[in-house]
Amino acid sequence: MAERSKGVVKTLKSVESWLCDICGEDFFVRYRVKYIEAHHKVPISTYSASYVVSLSDFALLCPNCHKAVHIYMKKSGYEYAKIKDILGAKAQPDAQPDAAQ
Ligand SMILES: [Zn+2]
Ligand SMILES: [Zn+2]
Repeated sequence: MAERSKGVVKTLKSVESWLCDICGEDFFVRYRVKYIEAHHKVPISTYSASYVVSLSDFALLCPNCHKAVHIYMKKSGYEYAKIKDILGAKAQPDAQPDAAQ
């Protein structure tokens, strides 16, 4: 699940939210740990070398949901938005301002 790049690490350090995009669980509230994983909505391979990664390029996910997303991607080939729909169907609507369709 390694999706590390300098841009992502830098961007993640600016994150102040530990809320999973799918299940809505706040990792810090739940575990007292400031931790969240970044899932790229768009494959890194499509970025150009000079591309500046921004928060809107990836979804912040708890490890469980992140793992599930990758399993779905592998099995179904669905894009993130669709998988989020499936996995998040039972979750409460979250308050993410960037709920891009
Ligand atoms: Zn989650
Ligand atoms: Zn991922």
